[in-house]
Amino acid sequence: MNRTRPPTPAETDGAGGNLPADRHIALAERYSAHNYHPLPVVLAEGDGAWVTDVEGRRYLDCLAGYSAMNFGHRNPELLAAAHRQLDRLTLTSRAFHHDRFAPFVTALAGLVGKDRVLPVNTGAEAVETAIKVARKWGYEVKGVPDGRARIVVAGGNFHGRTTTIVSFSTDPDAYGGFGPYTPGFCVVPYGDAGAVADAVDADTVAVLVEPVQGEAGVIVPPPDYLPRVREICTRENVLLVADEVQSGLGRTGTVRACEHSGVDADVYLFGKALGGGLLPVSAVVADAAVLDVIRPGQHGSTFGGNALACAVGETVVRLLREGPYLDNVRRLAPVLRARVEEFVGGGVVAARCVGLWAGLDVDPALATGRQLCERLLARGVLVKDTHGSTIRLSPPLVIGEEDLHRALDRLAEVLADLRAGR
Ligand SMILES: *Cc1c(COP(=O)(O)O)cnc(C)c1O
Repeated sequence: MNRTRPPTPAETDGAGGNLPADRHIALAERYSAHNYHPLPVVLAEGDGAWVTDVEGRRYLDCLAGYSAMNFGHRNPELLAAAHRQLDRLTLTSRAFHHDRFAPFVTALAGLVGKDRVLPVNTGAEAVETAIKVARKWGYEVKGVPDGRARIVVAGGNFHGRTTTIVSFSTDPDAYGGFGPYTPGFCVVPYGDAGAVADAVDADTVAVLVEPVQGEAGVIVPPPDYLPRVREICTRENVLLVADEVQSGLGRTGTVRACEHSGVDADVYLFGKALGGGLLPVSAVVADAAVLDVIRPGQHGSTFGGNALACAVGETVVRLLREGPYLDNVRRLAPVLRARVEEFVGGGVVAARCVGLWAGLDVDPALATGRQLCERLLARGVLVKDTHGSTIRLSPPLVIGEEDLHRALDRLAEVLADLRAGR
């Protein structure tokens, strides 16, 4: 049992040096809060789809920072943009203009096809911003009586960790013990457009939905779901807010996962990959008719839209426009799908794929998701379990076909071992 006491001077000094992995893990366990349960690997370097641990072992990164690393570790163009900006100007606050701001918001608005961008930092902050925008739009534009605005959300959602956002989570780990909860949300089953229609009333200001539910295990809704939700929102004068923090910016082979169903949301939320894996950058993107309900002083962020973030974010937009990333996803998506489908029945009970993104439900009789992740780690592949027996594959979009096969070969070996009781 760890004693609880502050670090000794020897520990504090020693933590700066080259520690072996077990020492890193012991110190992290002892002196950090236990809000994560990391796999037992200590990473020190990254390059593209590969990472290297403190002992020099290499791993294929098939989590990619929950899609924050879409463009790969140490992407040369993103690093160059960040280095250039670090040497010029990093933060001014939004009290002044700076010369990276206009290029970023112009590029992102152009990429998404909307006319306003509100930059913040984290995904949760983008979601919170959208909730505020939707409520204010409801009162000022739609004419909802003050204090009555409702937002319809989907069961199994993941929108972040703030007190308001966990108020409408259906995951007991996410919401349990964190009340009192923010009112004004109505949860309906994901993928059920009829339930959305039933839930929308005169006070409803928005439907907030992930086009593909990432944290829930890459849940892809029925093909008519988003088009029908779009119709309901248009008919009932309700904003469709698409949380594309994980599904957007290339993961599914498009800038917006909504594109797959030909749907244009009123409000888009981006995060994760928007910061290129270098720093937190997120944004709310919508038309002026929506975002202009926020006037000076009514919402903001010290770091939102800082010069470094804008330099990186603008480069992310350029990479999506010009880079080979989306093409690579479209090329490899059928490869991933075909291989993943082969696993179904062989230790995997169900699998879902879209773009370079797969969710696999492992047969709970064989192993937990965690056990599978530990076995893959031992074979040099990093993945993360979610919700007990599900694992998610989301390699960086720069991964090559050979490396993708390599990761899936390792998964096939692990499943074969488990089936053989090894
Ligand atoms: C990760 C995620 C968030 C929260 O992003 P943070 O940067 O962790 O706050 C919100 N929505 C979705 C869909 C996500 O995947």
